[in-house]
Amino acid sequence: MRPGKIICIGWNYRSHLSETNANLPTEPIVFFKPPSCLIGNGDDIVITEGIGAVHHEVELAVIFGKTGKNIPSSEAMSYVSHAAVFNDVTARDMQTKARAEGNPWCIAKGMDTFGPMSEPVPIDSVKGIHCLDLELSVNGTVRQKGSTSMMIFPIGELIAYVSRFVTIEKGDIMATGTPEGIGPLVKGDVVVAKIKGVGELRNKVV
Ligand code: MG
Repeated sequence: MRPGKIICIGWNYRSHLSETNANLPTEPIVFFKPPSCLIGNGDDIVITEGIGAVHHEVELAVIFGKTGKNIPSSEAMSYVSHAAVFNDVTARDMQTKARAEGNPWCIAKGMDTFGPMSEPVPIDSVKGIHCLDLELSVNGTVRQKGSTSMMIFPIGELIAYVSRFVTIEKGDIMATGTPEGIGPLVKGDVVVAKIKGVGELRNKVV
């Protein structure tokens, strides 16, 4: 089922702040990717010519099983039905330029194929969602390692915050931010993102 929206959280790991010249957020940083960017395990990430650096960002995604508004953080996890591994692929040069100019960076995050996601698994099968190990490698070299225990805003708080303003609908996806170690993807790379107990996501860059 295609989601109505993909809610993304920026700068949700302390370790990722310095490498992108960002300050510690006092509230979650929220943006959206269009559902048309989604691809699955084994599909190709397609880089359009002339867009500069493109980066990988391994993230835990949660998928919502029911619709809610003003969801209290204490009840937030009951709205989550599935989890998946997500790669928040980003045209970094375009995003950096847009940030510097005070412009939105929707295109830098929302290009076709910039939302690889693994097959979702039922949330009940995921043990310890708040201490999952994330890892991303490119051509067999580990680039990113982190734990969901290092999130600045935990998942329940993210859901509570977003749902104050935006109705979260059944089927929506939320990508919860990336730890340190973001880096470039170039044509021919094979990028593998893993979250133990959730899944593995392998995509080639073309
Ligand atoms: Mg991200």
